[in-house]
Amino acid sequence: MTETRTITGNRGLMVEERLIFEYDHHDRTAVDVPAIEPYEDRLGGLRRTGAVGLPGLAEPQVVRHYTRLSQKNYGIDTGLFPLGSCTMKYNPRLNEKAARMAGLADIHPFQPVSTVQGALELMDTLSHWLKQLTGMPAVALSPAAGAHGELCGVMAIRAAMDARGENRTTILVPESAHGTNPATAAICGYVVESIPAEESGRVSAEAVKAKLGPHVAAVMITNPNTCGLFEPEMIEISRIVHEAGAYVYMDGANFNAVVGRIRIADLGVDAMHINLHKTFSTPHGGGGPGSGPTVLSAALAPYAPVPYVVRDDKGFRLVELERDADGDAKPFGRMKGYHGQFGMFVRALAYMLALGKDGLQQVSGDAVLNANYLYARLADVLSASFEGPVMHEALFDDRFLKDTGVTTLDFAKALIDEGYHPMTMYFPLVVHGALLMEPTETESKAALDQFIDAVRGLAERAKAGDAEYFRQAPVHTPRRRLDETLAARKPVLRWTPPES
Ligand SMILES: *Cc1c(COP(=O)(O)O)cnc(C)c1O
Repeated sequence: MTETRTITGNRGLMVEERLIFEYDHHDRTAVDVPAIEPYEDRLGGLRRTGAVGLPGLAEPQVVRHYTRLSQKNYGIDTGLFPLGSCTMKYNPRLNEKAARMAGLADIHPFQPVSTVQGALELMDTLSHWLKQLTGMPAVALSPAAGAHGELCGVMAIRAAMDARGENRTTILVPESAHGTNPATAAICGYVVESIPAEESGRVSAEAVKAKLGPHVAAVMITNPNTCGLFEPEMIEISRIVHEAGAYVYMDGANFNAVVGRIRIADLGVDAMHINLHKTFSTPHGGGGPGSGPTVLSAALAPYAPVPYVVRDDKGFRLVELERDADGDAKPFGRMKGYHGQFGMFVRALAYMLALGKDGLQQVSGDAVLNANYLYARLADVLSASFEGPVMHEALFDDRFLKDTGVTTLDFAKALIDEGYHPMTMYFPLVVHGALLMEPTETESKAALDQFIDAVRGLAERAKAGDAEYFRQAPVHTPRRRLDETLAARKPVLRWTPPES
């Protein structure tokens, strides 16, 4: 395919944007200030001698620069985001409105608690619903993301083991797990042992049993798992894990597939994080903000970190220090400055209250229905890794590309030209060349059909032998294929002015 170069380098209405420093107006400013009268400074000889080096641009130039940069960002507000394992769902504007209300947005963590009773009540109400939805007796709100929630759960497990005077060394993690699971276990000082997956993509109680022993502190298991499959042996797994004196950590990132339908406590879980930004619609991406409240069983609840909200006859108050904990509580410490991602709490509670019990049940129903619709309509042209029906996401692998000369990466790049952010690629590692798609409940059938048509069309083009088309892709983007490894290993983070 020949590329048509434009004179400006712009493509359609997509402007080829320079760095703001490259506009080369360093010798002037857009602000008129009178020249300063001579004066004596008090900088003790530390006065700057060189130029500040800031670009001197007029307001419209600055506004256009940043607006154009923002347009290069693909987001959930601009299109369907099929990323599996990430749950990129639409964030209702109502949540945003609630989070910006002055009484919730303009408060400070150092304010006397008597002046923030409403905020504390909101945290207490959110805690109530998280406990209600999981059947678990306690929740720690402060973890700032899913991975942070894992850290909270595993630190509670470590504290419980310490209290028992046991020094168990190992945590078992299935090979399909999200990378944060083994990372969490390792950061807490545990040896990670991998549990192999069955042919069906699931973890069997037998495989767990084969690895259990007095050295095992916990099993971390994701349910539904990262292949988009429910783990039907979960209850039996919990039973044998408890019998071996260990704890069950359930990765609850996929709670959106089961919310309102199963009680987590009934699965024998001791700790589970809930990614508010996945299940309860608060915005995420680009590293945050997230929020990962962690529910705890009666065995782990005493070790929950501070701070937490309690209510007594004087109203709501915060237990901020470990030594101020009441009763049997022995908090393992503190995970975060202040009280967690308060703005996310507001958004999540707004979402829960807007939907109600039946609405939350419909969230999981529609998320699973949409994923199965994708699965059913794509299984004949792609290669489904496991037999359906699936839960909230559909996993395909690269067998359908065999002998076409097209790779999963090429396929994903071609999808960018079609106007879609690619699905998750090469994860989970249990299948070859994975393509993991999660539509979530917020996509309409029309949006899914359009995406399916694009994917089907590309699959047919690949099979028709047009490998060159895929090797070129993407051709319609401001940048084509980047050396992603070099960019990650040797990022250029500093602009250096050209030699004049
Ligand atoms: C997203 C995810 C995590 C990590 O959550 P973050 O909020 O991104 O830290 C952990 N496990 C699974 C299965 C996930 O999908």
